[in-house]
Amino acid sequence: MIPAIRQGRSATLAGTLLLGGLAACTSDSTRESGDSREPTESLDVVIVGAGAAGLAAAMDLPGAVVLEADEAPGGRALYSGAVLQFVGTPEQEEAGVVDSVGDAVGDWPTLTGGPATATTERWLTASAAVHDRLGGLGVSFALADPDPLLHRRRLHMIAGEGRALVDALVAALPESVEIRTGTRVTGLRLDGAKVVGVETESGPMDARTVIVATGGFANRADLLARYVTWPAGSWAIGDDPYSEGAALDWALAGGLGVAHPEAVGSNANVIGLAGAAGGATRARNDPWIWVDEAGARFVDESQGWSLTLASSAEAHAPTWAIAASAELEPAVDAADWAAIAPALRCAPAPVALAEALGLDSEAFVDTVAAAASARASGGKDAWGRAAPSLPNLTGELCAFPPGRLASKSFGGLDVDDAGQVRAADGTPIAGLYAAGEAAGMAQPGLGGAWGCDGSLSAVIWSGWQVAATLRE
Ligand SMILES: Cc1cc2nc3c(=O)[nH]c(=O)nc-3n(C[C@H](O)[C@H](O)[C@H](O)COP(=O)(O)OP(=O)(O)OC[C@H]3O[C@@H](n4cnc5c(N)ncnc54)[C@H](O)[C@@H]3O)c2cc1C
Repeated sequence: MIPAIRQGRSATLAGTLLLGGLAACTSDSTRESGDSREPTESLDVVIVGAGAAGLAAAMDLPGAVVLEADEAPGGRALYSGAVLQFVGTPEQEEAGVVDSVGDAVGDWPTLTGGPATATTERWLTASAAVHDRLGGLGVSFALADPDPLLHRRRLHMIAGEGRALVDALVAALPESVEIRTGTRVTGLRLDGAKVVGVETESGPMDARTVIVATGGFANRADLLARYVTWPAGSWAIGDDPYSEGAALDWALAGGLGVAHPEAVGSNANVIGLAGAAGGATRARNDPWIWVDEAGARFVDESQGWSLTLASSAEAHAPTWAIAASAELEPAVDAADWAAIAPALRCAPAPVALAEALGLDSEAFVDTVAAAASARASGGKDAWGRAAPSLPNLTGELCAFPPGRLASKSFGGLDVDDAGQVRAADGTPIAGLYAAGEAAGMAQPGLGGAWGCDGSLSAVIWSGWQVAATLRE
């Protein structure tokens, strides 16, 4: 049962997406494609993107054709640690973890900065079934370490990480599904409030149904600058080749609805000062602690991957990250160091640094001493941070604002409960659906203000949901 994977032309640069999107959708009622070539094919269901969402949808749509820009299926899941969020699993039961959808909904505002929506609740409720269906495909899970950032051990890790997940999804595709890799879609073809196909580099294609599963926009600096409120120079983008924002380009060019694009999750392993390339400075190993205005710590700063961590710095603002310059300099690239060094606030001893920052000196000295003693103890500190990861705060100390690494987008194409895309005026577009990060993981708003860890289970669920709608 291995699907046909057909190799097409190589992927091109993200820049073509915008031009293609503009050409594909004019604003009049016919929204002609702008490509005078005859459609090369007439297909029933086209899925754009073979990431986790597109693959999940294809699993339940025999005969679908999946158009994938990359040379292989998998998308961002291939890079991910594959930590998924589930409620009510055997792993939780075995570990004696008492959890429920109600608990998760109750945690949501603290976890994500916003209330759980009806879609959040539907996803959390369905999550045990998602877990079981993936288990049936041979995916096995273990509970993630207890999370000090309020996940109540809802996070599950996949053995074999993202690769194992992608392999299981690909292996589960019906034989009649065809994946065409190296095939970039450059725009949607709309006829009024109806999709009629897609544009590709090799010409237009007719399609009765199109599922946009092109992922998010966390790696598109221009779209982020348009939507997020983070100060310029305090954030950076990742370097994986996905999350290029095709869905938003098409929406902006073609009058499709966009919802909650400001809800972007970020990791916190970044220095919030502009490095050589202009964005915030990337750093290795989190060689710092964070302190609040009172000079006290409030979190395990080594959980830099957690979306909740980045936002907890904001909740405790003004927050300073404190590092020894001897440990900080090797953690960043030389060019970035040259760019940020003049902006660091440094002093030869804790008291002098506290005074320069206007912190309570006594509390700050105690904080530094407590971190040193936890480090020496070899155990964990009061926030659960393990000794080896604690910085050695001796010699010259430097302070700087924590920064953000844009990680996942929790807004995107405006879709209804069935995953059907709506125009900017709310009109449903016949035949046009979206799943996964392109639709804010499943539906914009699901992840509150800054998103949540483990949203891959929502991505997969949304692919299955769209397929179920189409099969009805
Ligand atoms: C380093 C890293 C670690 C992560 N860890 C986790 C984690 O532990 N847990 C978690 O929940 N999430 C994690 N994530 C996020 C998670 O991987 C994504 O949210 C999820 O995989 C998105 O799936 P998707 O199918 O919606 O989009 P994607 O995986 O982005 O897939 C979209 C696909 O569409 C293709 N595509 C895009 N544009 C076009 C086009 N124009 N034409 C044709 N094809 C196109 C892309 O090539 C890609 O294959 C992580 C992400 C990264 C980068």
